[in-house]
Amino acid sequence: MLDIRITKTEHPKEKPSGKLGFGKVFTDHMFIMNYEEGKGWFDPRIEPFHNLSLSPATMVFHYAQEMFEGLKAYKGVDGNNYCFRPDMNARRTNLSNKRLCIPQIPEEDFVQAVTTLVSVDADWIPTEPGTSLYIRPFIIATDAFLGVAVSKTYLFMIILSPSGAYYESGLDPVGIWIEDDYVRAVRGGMGFAKTGGNYAASLIGQEKAHNDGYAQVLWLDGVERKYIEEVGSMNIFFKIDGKIVTPMLNGSILPGITRDSVIRICKDWGFEVEERKISVDELLEAQQNGKLEEVFGTGTAAVISPVGKLRYKDDVMTIGDGKTGEISHKLYETVTGIQLGKLEDKYGWRVKI
Ligand SMILES: *Cc1c(COP(=O)(O)O)cnc(C)c1O
Repeated sequence: MLDIRITKTEHPKEKPSGKLGFGKVFTDHMFIMNYEEGKGWFDPRIEPFHNLSLSPATMVFHYAQEMFEGLKAYKGVDGNNYCFRPDMNARRTNLSNKRLCIPQIPEEDFVQAVTTLVSVDADWIPTEPGTSLYIRPFIIATDAFLGVAVSKTYLFMIILSPSGAYYESGLDPVGIWIEDDYVRAVRGGMGFAKTGGNYAASLIGQEKAHNDGYAQVLWLDGVERKYIEEVGSMNIFFKIDGKIVTPMLNGSILPGITRDSVIRICKDWGFEVEERKISVDELLEAQQNGKLEEVFGTGTAAVISPVGKLRYKDDVMTIGDGKTGEISHKLYETVTGIQLGKLEDKYGWRVKI
């Protein structure tokens, strides 16, 4: 149990009015906790949101020893505030930390830090349909040292950003570019960790996709560039001939919490769910035989993102006439229904703040 010292701001900011975008507006407070070798994590505190002062030699700027998480807080239909499976973010934090030689954080401390900060800034949780308070926990290596080594000091911080509805008028299928040249991650690398370096590696593919009018990139495996991995910040699912199929977690794919939830729900609905290797060739063939019934991405931001078009080299596959599939729609309604308390939470995923 953390003993969190809370210093409230004397100058609360004006809440944003009008349309909320994503990730540009921050709340009044932030959480900070220090780490020093030999001392462990110490001085957990909530302070007014402020800039940091760091040496230009700070390790994270040079060698990217850092990790981050992403989750949301919502205003439930009963007027209470909720988070969705924050224990999973805590667990994944330590998975990322282990890979990046960052010290572990007790899972209950992580969850306590998140829920305490959200409580302090609870009046920043937006209430319009589809909106939420985005929560961004992250850890950076802070030794001022240019040698390549594991840092002995860290900062664990959490910032909050009210964010607008991802879909303004119903689910909107996106076009996805299957990248056949660049790769995002390889087995043995850090694809399974939520860390900035993976995103730095992915920007160039995203640029290519955007330049060609596609919303997102679908990455292939780093060795043969043949098997489907995941989308920029989402996991990917296919409905092929009645079955739900998604790439297995192989070390280079991020283990999404939405992915885990969707698998669970689909199994409960009686679907056969296969976590396995899926080649692009299999998709092209399924498409030609009329068996590629639905494609959708899963992630905290969009929850479910239907895919209407997939491009691979010279092939452009249109999926379900470019419209949102039935299962994609039903999954979106179910996951958001559980999050907001419109539906019974039989899995115990919703956490009251
Ligand atoms: C965060 C993330 C996801 C989605 O994970 P969720 O826990 O469902 O939000 C998928 N892929 C990558 C690369 C990610 O960083």
